[in-house]
Amino acid sequence: MKLFAIFGDPVSHSKSPLMHNLAFKTLGFNGCYGRWQLIDGTKLRDTFIHLGLNGCNITVPHKEEAFKAADIVEPFAAEVQAVNTLVLKNNKLYGYNTDAPGFYRALQKLGTTKSALIIGAGGTARALALFLRSKDINIEVVNRSERRLKWFKDEGFVCHTWDSFNPSSKDVVINTTSAGLSDESLPMPKELLDQSLKKAKYAVDVIYGKDTPFLKEAKKLTLPFFDGSEMLLQQGIIAFDYFTDHQYTLDEIETAMRPFLSL
Ligand code: NDP
Repeated sequence: MKLFAIFGDPVSHSKSPLMHNLAFKTLGFNGCYGRWQLIDGTKLRDTFIHLGLNGCNITVPHKEEAFKAADIVEPFAAEVQAVNTLVLKNNKLYGYNTDAPGFYRALQKLGTTKSALIIGAGGTARALALFLRSKDINIEVVNRSERRLKWFKDEGFVCHTWDSFNPSSKDVVINTTSAGLSDESLPMPKELLDQSLKKAKYAVDVIYGKDTPFLKEAKKLTLPFFDGSEMLLQQGIIAFDYFTDHQYTLDEIETAMRPFLSL
């Protein structure tokens, strides 16, 4: 049997074990997936080996340590210096980042996207901006404060704080802030947000497990949308594909995994 786990701190809330074990069972793959609370990220590699794992996922706050723990890192994960999937092959740890590719797979289901407004400028926004740009999607970024925008400016992205932002037409508006996660706040002043959403074809929130104020506004405007649970599912599908060494199609994995959303 092949063993897998998710590392994080906290990790008890993670749905990854449910998601992967369901797919192992449905597809008849002899695997088992658990969770491991890792407090010290520098112990990731030793813990992985000690547990006899074949692969793992890494969540907050250890994605940067996972990047350092990998022997070989795929180009996109190297660019963002964050790894959320490790696979052991020929005694080497291969590192991948499946968050942004998973997000993109979900986005493609909404329709063709040529332009996107990203609200927020944290780690998730950085990964999405780089990956979506690599798919020829025109990106604009808006954040509540200046400090985190420096990286985007240096990377050549068009970006603003709220006070200098003038909403223009975009295919999708993506909320990557944590506004609405544990409160009822919008990620941007209501008037700016409504203007942005009215000019968009669809909306996406990366937060999951909650009907956020952002998504409520999008729903009022009857925009098609998905939330962070779809991103979670899609990053899991791509990680599973690495874990099982490409022996299933992504669609087969999706059919096996998707029912976890309603468990
Ligand atoms: P960071 O801490 O790196 O960045 C947070 C960003 O949100 C910053 O730009 C910050 O602005 C902004 N922000 C925070 N609170 C507010 C607020 N009340 N109003 C407006 N802006 C605000 O976070 P991450 O990028 O790591 O994560 C962001 C979200 O993405 C989290 O909610 C996380 O749960 C979710 N996520 C979901 C995943 C999934 O699979 N579905 C995967 C990864 C993340 P400022 O710079 O001004 O502080």
